[in-house]
Amino acid sequence: MGTGSKSNTTTTPTPTHGDRLASGSHHRVVIIGAGFAGLGMAIQCQQQGISDWVLLEKADDVGGTWRDNHYPNCQCDVPSNLYSFSFALKPDWSRSFGWAEEIHQYLQQCTQDFGLNPGIRFDSEVTAAQWDDAGSCWRITTADGWHCTADVMVSGHGPLSAPAVPDIAGLDEFSGPVFHSAHWDHSVDLEGKKVAVIGTGASSVQIVPGIQPEVDELLVFQRSAPWVVPRPDRPVSERRKAIYRRFPALQRLVRQAIYWSRELLVVPMAYRPSLLGAGEAQARAHLARQVRDPELRAKLEPDYSMGCKRVLLSNDYYPALAADNTSLVDERIDKVGTGSILTADGVEHEVDVIVLATGFHVTDHPMADRVRGRDGRTLNEHWSESQSAYLGTSVTGFPNMFMIIGPNTGLGHTSMIVMMEAQFAYILGAFDHMRRTGTEVIEVRPQVQRSFNEELQQKLDGTVWASGCASWYLDDDGRNTTLWPDFTFRFRRRLARFDPGSYTQR
Ligand code: NAP
Repeated sequence: MGTGSKSNTTTTPTPTHGDRLASGSHHRVVIIGAGFAGLGMAIQCQQQGISDWVLLEKADDVGGTWRDNHYPNCQCDVPSNLYSFSFALKPDWSRSFGWAEEIHQYLQQCTQDFGLNPGIRFDSEVTAAQWDDAGSCWRITTADGWHCTADVMVSGHGPLSAPAVPDIAGLDEFSGPVFHSAHWDHSVDLEGKKVAVIGTGASSVQIVPGIQPEVDELLVFQRSAPWVVPRPDRPVSERRKAIYRRFPALQRLVRQAIYWSRELLVVPMAYRPSLLGAGEAQARAHLARQVRDPELRAKLEPDYSMGCKRVLLSNDYYPALAADNTSLVDERIDKVGTGSILTADGVEHEVDVIVLATGFHVTDHPMADRVRGRDGRTLNEHWSESQSAYLGTSVTGFPNMFMIIGPNTGLGHTSMIVMMEAQFAYILGAFDHMRRTGTEVIEVRPQVQRSFNEELQQKLDGTVWASGCASWYLDDDGRNTTLWPDFTFRFRRRLARFDPGSYTQR
């Protein structure tokens, strides 16, 4: 890697040692985003002796999705023991499935324990990142005008970080509060109000039981019914916490057991969708147990194969829908009036507050408009047909750039941290290669990226995700550009060693 001596074309004086976060500075590595991906990358850099990294975070705190999502009842649907860094185990998770607040605190603790704060610049939303081919560096600018250059840029901006507001006629003219699940407005008192929740995905199934006891009337607008299975969540006993504290190896063993049990889920999803019948039977039994009213139950029967969209875990979603103050509306929304939502059947539903649990811009994330590669075109322009990368990490035309949780690295069955840690190892391998060989610039070969994606798309054919439902896993052309279609150990194996032969180098 370079020596940290790139000059900047602006007039800002070159900062002296100690001005790590000064505008106009140059760094070996600039990392975008202080969620699991960015923080993990910073820790790994630190541990590998790469001290000249800077992390740019748009908000005033670390935590990523677990900072932004603080809606009532926000939890994680991956077991806590697996939903943490392997190099920073937490022996005292309060529950087997963590609450958002506790995961956020875990990331704050990691930031403190690994001494990351001096390298993080908060309130620094990256508005432009441009590869300068002559200078062999990235030129990065933030919303407040701060700028820097970097030998290497690692983006951990998070695929689920840009809330999607639905294009529903009249939504702008609604007179009451309207907010997205990822921008929960706690100043709005829901007590005694008629509240509409639009959407029935992973966020909604947590929000609905979270607010149902408090509101006067709850209207849940469903476009498609999700598959819901029981959530085997329970408090972690003090005894177990003490054992984990004393014997970390035992906690690692339990973590491994959880990891492998979840890997088994890849078999029905990616290899034998016919095996999903057993899971569907379990979900139907769960529905039958929790919803007695046959009319409501019929509305809640999904009409696509289980796993095609994310399978949801909840013990309290169905009971909240069956409560006297809740109505499930499965008619298409026509438009929003100043104090109501009108559905296609002509019914006007009066509401005071609208909650949009309508998901995120995943295949059209705004960051892809801000990053410009070797030819001056943005990632989005490169991806005009479809987003793609090599190993979800490198993109041809974008030298010295690595993405964490880039295209086709998403999972429907286990912890994303498994994927991130595989990427950390690969990126560190690239850094090491550059340092050892004195290589300044690497860029994945177009043919390598193409072959990788052909193989990936072939693999996706025949999986449950291609079984015909509309989901955020697919882009506008119906191409799955978000999920890794195989066991995660295969991803880990593939990224275990950096492969310089796949890259042009200079
Ligand atoms: P989502 O899964 O994309 O769900 C969005 C919901 O809004 C869907 O039910 C969708 O209907 C509906 N919708 C979207 N646009 C609409 C419109 N114009 N009119 C009516 N309905 C509309 O979003 P999410 O629930 O926020 O979850 C996103 C992802 O975040 C999850 O898949 C998961 O990966 C992650 N997440 C994880 C957790 C966790 O516990 N770890 C919790 C929350 C979220 P259709 O289904 O018909 O499209």
